[in-house]
Amino acid sequence: MTVLAIDIGGTKFAAAAVDPGGTLVRRVELPVGADPTATLTELLDEVGTAGLTGVGIGSAGPVDAPAGTVSPVNIPSWRDFPLVTTVGRLLPGLPVVLAGDAQCMALGEWWRGSHVPRSRALLGIVVSTGVGGGIVLDGVPYLGPTGNAGHIGHITVDRDGELCPCGALGCLETVASGPSMVRWALANGWAAPAGHPDAKALAADARRAVPVAQRAFQRTADALAAAVLTTAALFDIDDVVIGGGVAAAGETLLTPLRQAVAKQAGLGFLRRLTVSPTSLERDAGLYGAAALALTAAAPDLSRQKGPLG
Ligand SMILES: [Zn+2]
Repeated sequence: MTVLAIDIGGTKFAAAAVDPGGTLVRRVELPVGADPTATLTELLDEVGTAGLTGVGIGSAGPVDAPAGTVSPVNIPSWRDFPLVTTVGRLLPGLPVVLAGDAQCMALGEWWRGSHVPRSRALLGIVVSTGVGGGIVLDGVPYLGPTGNAGHIGHITVDRDGELCPCGALGCLETVASGPSMVRWALANGWAAPAGHPDAKALAADARRAVPVAQRAFQRTADALAAAVLTTAALFDIDDVVIGGGVAAAGETLLTPLRQAVAKQAGLGFLRRLTVSPTSLERDAGLYGAAALALTAAAPDLSRQKGPLG
């Protein structure tokens, strides 16, 4: 039972055939072209579709899982795009399941990441141009009725904070996303390297102990810790896994984040959670999409001894 995993990002599409043991058999990646639908078709042609039993897709959001549509923020020509129907037409007869990209990252980390024993309750967070998340409870991704569970980027961390593009005040994303961090740092006197006012340059300056860059990461760590602990209090989270472009800063983010979690955690059960970087990096979403397809094919087996073991 080999499934096809598809990862739809804002700038690239990836796909792989994945066997039930979790091996990526063939992996292909393409930059999103001028015509994203043509890119998708080319991707499926390149990865090959013989012998597949199902398809799992993780897509940049928002997604409407019941309708099978996606509206990735960075792909303007796809608004309410019927992704599930389109892939179903390209691969007739195969079941197609869809979830958000961060949900797939979390599921991929639970399944194939380095967390042994596996978490009973895992929270995955992608800190990048936005902040996404996903929750896996007892090996089952909790997606929610509309497929949007885990939107940790839109948890309020500051009721007096900035207006978020979503319409709410003080969302985590207004503090912790890469562009938000850069905006704050520039407004507070950061002398960014010419032409590169981005989160990567900010992380480099934080490592060089530039005070404003360090404060930007501290501010992000404090906000992330508040959102992590809020989520952990609701779901009794064991493990938090962080990925995405901002998290590529490694210990520059993780060390202040772990310290902030330790400082802010009140209740005893919150003190046991661990915070670690993604162990699968850019393939976490593909593994998660594959897991989605495998569990969809055998939902009654998905809890303890199913195809995901
Ligand atoms: Zn928001």
